[in-house]
Amino acid sequence: MKHRKDYFSNSMTVRKEPFVMYVDMNSYFASCEQQRHPELRGKPLGVLTYDSPNAAVIAASIEAKRYGVKTGMRLRECRELCPQMLTVTTHPAWYRRIHVDFMDILRSYCDDVIPKSIDEAVANFHSYHLVYNDLTAVAKQIKADLAAKYDYLKCSIGIAPNSFLAKVGTELQKPDGLIVITEDNIDAYLSTLKLTDLPGIAAANERRLQLIGIRTPVEMRHSSAALLRKAFGGVVGEYWHRRLNFAEVDMYSRAENKTMSATRTLSRQQSSDPQKLESMLISLCTRLEQRMVKSNLFCREVYFSIRYRDRTKWETTVKLADPLQDAMELRNYIKERIADFEKSRGVSTLFTDKTTNLNVAIQSFIKGDVMQYSLFDNRIKRDTVRRVMYQIKDRYDKNIVRKGSELFNPHVMKDAIGFGSVKDMIVTDGKVKNQYLLEEDEGDGKYLVTDAENKRKPEYQEETYEYQDLWMPPDVEGVDE
Ligand SMILES: [Mg+2]
Repeated sequence: MKHRKDYFSNSMTVRKEPFVMYVDMNSYFASCEQQRHPELRGKPLGVLTYDSPNAAVIAASIEAKRYGVKTGMRLRECRELCPQMLTVTTHPAWYRRIHVDFMDILRSYCDDVIPKSIDEAVANFHSYHLVYNDLTAVAKQIKADLAAKYDYLKCSIGIAPNSFLAKVGTELQKPDGLIVITEDNIDAYLSTLKLTDLPGIAAANERRLQLIGIRTPVEMRHSSAALLRKAFGGVVGEYWHRRLNFAEVDMYSRAENKTMSATRTLSRQQSSDPQKLESMLISLCTRLEQRMVKSNLFCREVYFSIRYRDRTKWETTVKLADPLQDAMELRNYIKERIADFEKSRGVSTLFTDKTTNLNVAIQSFIKGDVMQYSLFDNRIKRDTVRRVMYQIKDRYDKNIVRKGSELFNPHVMKDAIGFGSVKDMIVTDGKVKNQYLLEEDEGDGKYLVTDAENKRKPEYQEETYEYQDLWMPPDVEGVDE
């Protein structure tokens, strides 16, 4: 009989051959614009969701980055660094079209391709080791295929034994990179990086590591699993040890481990109105509701956080006795927790004008099919009504049926490019659509607003909306451009 320990090590089987490929498009939205408008090529360019000095640049061209322009900067700030920077507003339909072609190219080489965001994907070639003996040749061919279709688009490709290290490979050389990380060169590559250069290590995790004396990625890789467990307070440290030592922990996860999250980042002006913060919370919950209905899932855990300008954070996790799907119920649980806290601490409101970010995440899903309706008596009717409503939206027009919560502030539901929302994309009649949007973007990228009053510029910044398969520590920050 096998000893228990053997089973344990079997589950930790590590394949050290570099057979995972991560592809990251460089300066994606900006390059897409330059692809379509040759007159913008070779010039510093910023992509905006709306044209205003207060707008945040959601993508900067390679040329603009050379002036220090970064994703997320206000247009005003960018102009100080690069006065001649050109700007263009987003064209989501075009970015999605290219995404679909980009996935088709990858899938022509490998069946096991998982899109990680609109401009990133990971391909697992481990079962192709008899087909390809040199993945760098495949990577070069992928770049050539992409160039044949879109001559201005470039990508960085990382090849490594697991998806995490392959992603690190894409960070090492930009633009147009091609890096292979192996057992022999990994420490040399890691020694060029800071802890916070590793995807998933932001300030909070960096502090945790520094507290126990780990200051560099190389030191981190050579730390014991036990030490890393201590740094991260549990199994998360174990995962870090494994991913830095070639095991795969990020590519796949079981449905019950998945997290869906919806996030909004706010400008000073937006956070000054508590009513707006309230309506944003509803819009985030509605997004998640839509996702659950489409996936036929109910959640049993809700997480909510508010981040403030001074980098502090208020957060709460609600474990639900009854799985739920309804946006307003979701919101009510969150509001209850907020009210409890405000009352117990004598705080007038947590939605202060110092708010910079709202995040709602849900997890611990169960399938709708296995829901024990008898336990939730009058719910069966409501759940059916909700499902039918979304079916009508799908068949006819997304704006025909609206829920009360959507009407609360209809234009907050405008199309969000959603750096992580590629799973929502479907192709119908050759048109790429985001099936979870309530309003179609018009194809020329202008957001459709629902009534005359909303014709003024959108009040909200872009929303990032992710469905995470990739396990990430809780302090992942920002958008990976
Ligand atoms: Mg990118």
